[in-house]
Amino acid sequence: MKLSKFLVPTLKENPADAEVISHKLMVRAGMIRKLTAGIYSYLPLGYRSLRKVEQICREEMDAAGAQEVYLPVAQPSELWKESGRWEIYGKELLRFKDRHDRECCLGPTHEEVITDLVRREVRSYRDLPLNLYQIQTKFRDEIRPRFGLMRGREFIMKDGYSFDTTEDMAEKTYIEMRDAYQKIFTRCGLEFRAVEADSGPIGGSFSHEFMVLAATGEDTIVSCDSCDYAANMEKAEIRTEEFSFPVSEGSPEAVSTPGASTVEEVAKFLGLKAENIIKTLILKTENGAIAVLLRGDHELNEVKVKNFLKVSDIVMANADTIEEVTGGPMGFSGPVGLSNIPVLADRAIFGVESAVVGGNRHETHLINVDPRRHFKVDQSGDFRAATAGDLCPRCSGTLRLSRGIEVGHIFKLGDKYSKAMNASFLDPDGKEQFMIMGCYGIGVSRVLAAAIEQNHDDDGIIFPPPIAPFTVMITPVGAKSETINEVAGRIYEDLWSSGIDALLDDRDERPGVKFKDADLLGIPFRITIGQKALAQGNVELRNRRTKETILVKPEDVIPEVRKLTEKWAQRA
Ligand code: ATP
Ligand code: MG
Repeated sequence: MKLSKFLVPTLKENPADAEVISHKLMVRAGMIRKLTAGIYSYLPLGYRSLRKVEQICREEMDAAGAQEVYLPVAQPSELWKESGRWEIYGKELLRFKDRHDRECCLGPTHEEVITDLVRREVRSYRDLPLNLYQIQTKFRDEIRPRFGLMRGREFIMKDGYSFDTTEDMAEKTYIEMRDAYQKIFTRCGLEFRAVEADSGPIGGSFSHEFMVLAATGEDTIVSCDSCDYAANMEKAEIRTEEFSFPVSEGSPEAVSTPGASTVEEVAKFLGLKAENIIKTLILKTENGAIAVLLRGDHELNEVKVKNFLKVSDIVMANADTIEEVTGGPMGFSGPVGLSNIPVLADRAIFGVESAVVGGNRHETHLINVDPRRHFKVDQSGDFRAATAGDLCPRCSGTLRLSRGIEVGHIFKLGDKYSKAMNASFLDPDGKEQFMIMGCYGIGVSRVLAAAIEQNHDDDGIIFPPPIAPFTVMITPVGAKSETINEVAGRIYEDLWSSGIDALLDDRDERPGVKFKDADLLGIPFRITIGQKALAQGNVELRNRRTKETILVKPEDVIPEVRKLTEKWAQRA
């Protein structure tokens, strides 16, 4: 490819709407252009990289025994009604009507379509297992599309679905997919971590997210500093220490707390720390109101409560509900005497000696409260968000927090969809059974953004060679000379015929402009052909990452590039 004829509209300025570096650099390097919010066109350079990520996914999925299919983007509502998701999916699902007034949607994911396909084609256990995947455009009408390709409305996903005859087989497939994902992200050159993710009511350790470690990540990862435990914040468990302190003699005493209702205000007013307070959250689920007690300095983890209660919806109760269930105004709820709704307590509250709680009365709190004696708790458990310094649930280490970008998600679905949509097979005894499913997603376009988020410097992108749009950039510089052009052209031909993709900067530009653009585009290796070195029979080979330049003979370019690529792969 020759740069003079290639559509690479580089920009000097960052786009005004870009907040993260990958978005800025992809626009500046002429890889993508925005059409409208969350919807992007891939220009030749961006699309070359994207296809490399796709190809790595494809090769590893094929190697793991999965088969590639291509499913429709437009889907009829009937299938979504069968699975029950037409009602619950919400506004991310882009719905529309066709000319016959039939309801349709654009696929945000393909469980329904694939389950429909497989239930029609598979009859017997002999046809299973099946593992099918596709690489395709997804549409999700995200409420806040942002960060360029990171959170788009239209994006490219590799999604795969497995169908097994037994739970054991499904677990084996799950582990094979987890291994395949490790290989994919390693090959893409990413620094990542597989973390336990919330698997909703299915429970167990059958959902993992693959997180690219980056400060700009939208997810919080909780990991242990001494063992390999790592989980998404939503899922992260906490080991609670055993508490023991003498049972208090006194009884609760009401104190007036004018103008103080939040934990911070009450702590300040009473001259205490937030951890001396037990806060009472009144929440509403589809099954009614509940109270959750937390230590003042702790935060609620909604997902834990949802899974514990097996409910799908949790919101903060409004003032009317609070008044109704506690008899007091919002901001002063407390557990003492609270008997008409279920009370859940996070275990850490039992470590609060002589606690302060809300008094269920205007501007009133209770002091000297013993959490073991002075109020009723229906159930206690782990309901709070992990914080740095909490105890690891698996070992004696402590937990720390970091940020990550979710690039992949694998999930054991069980018979959720096969049951709802009647995807069954006949087992060896002729008995009808539901297939056991798993689903496996990779945000292919997000991988590209995440890779740049992790690999860049002040001058631009530093592509990992396996996903770089080109492996080598050839930059002839200096006065127009026949020899320089001839050597550049020969190296270009040689690289391509050895299977190394090269971009030739044949533009009539000053060396400074060419070098700047080369750095911005992030092509891993640059060959500079200039008068001075060439007079000695050499060209320069520069490593974008290390900025090291070596002199090589034109005929040694190919083995030298191979050596550098090999070195990169070994992270040497
Ligand atoms: P998120 O929590 O980031 O919204 P998700 O849990 O909705 O992701 P999945 O449904 O598991 O994501 O989709 C599989 C993969 O698709 C994700 O791991 C992610 O890499 C990618 N993905 C999801 N939503 C988007 C999006 N809006 N833009 C780009 N990639 C996305
Ligand atoms: Mg999402």
